[in-house]
Amino acid sequence: MPAQILDGKLIAQQMRLKLRVARDGLGPCPIRLVSVEVGQNPAAAVYVRNQQRAATEVGIEMEVRNLPVTTTEAQLVATIAELSGRADVAGILVQRPLPPGIDPRTVQSAIDPAKDVEGMHPANMGAILYREPSLPPCTAAAAQQLILATGRDLRGTETVVVGHSEIVGKPIAILLLHRLSTVTVCHIGTKHLIEHTRRADIVVVAVGKAGLVHGDMLKPGACVIDVGINQGADGRIVGDVDFASCREVAGFLTPVPGGVGPVTVAMLLRNTLRAAGATV
Ligand code: NAD
Repeated sequence: MPAQILDGKLIAQQMRLKLRVARDGLGPCPIRLVSVEVGQNPAAAVYVRNQQRAATEVGIEMEVRNLPVTTTEAQLVATIAELSGRADVAGILVQRPLPPGIDPRTVQSAIDPAKDVEGMHPANMGAILYREPSLPPCTAAAAQQLILATGRDLRGTETVVVGHSEIVGKPIAILLLHRLSTVTVCHIGTKHLIEHTRRADIVVVAVGKAGLVHGDMLKPGACVIDVGINQGADGRIVGDVDFASCREVAGFLTPVPGGVGPVTVAMLLRNTLRAAGATV
């Protein structure tokens, strides 16, 4: 039987309805999320438009600040510090990629951790070791949300995370560890990836290589979360997972596009409402 598709668009839509209720509970005062971008990036422009549309639906005002490509790291940090100090700004988001010469970690560290709605400030990243933080990294939180949507109890499951980035691989591994899954993290240095993926009940792939994971690498019935975003040979967006072969073996599978991406945006909005004081 082909895998059940975990519909990220639908899950995100359901989340936005819940978020709208939480937002209305905060009263009429505007909730402002400021997105800061340096230079013009056509790929980022699509993300920003999607984020703005979703924010409007939830009742969050998303202000977009485009800084010139000549902006220095010090100037960007000063802008972030100014926004962090403003009482009318609930959340701050820095669009990537940043131009060469600007260190994303330095910039992220300049955000007030209480307004770090991407959950990437060292304080929020560190807090994840103790428990699930109130502002978790959005993509890792989205991957977890999709796994939970299967209804499966994660205690005692075997998870293999492929990719050990700070933004996805490491935080999702720790989030699932909190739920008592037995987690293995594979990466560029891993020998024989297939030996790991084949015994996993849950496979999360966040690498950036189209077709890295094939159906023959999976345990029948596995839940497969594809975080990757790649440009396919025909120009279309594809994930890291070979969808056709994995669909034949997996129990659950996220599509790309329409899987992790929309849920990540919903997580960003959830974090913004939490930063504004909502319990959601
Ligand atoms: P990254 O580029 O920072 O790191 C890539 C990771 O892949 C590294 O940990 C590396 O060890 C591992 N890797 C590389 N080759 C490998 C191989 N052959 N076998 C096993 N592991 C290998 O990763 P990132 O920033 O987490 O991004 C990963 C992918 O996820 C990209 O396609 C990115 O566009 C996508 N992404 C999607 C979202 C979303 O919201 N859907 C968010 C962030 C990133």
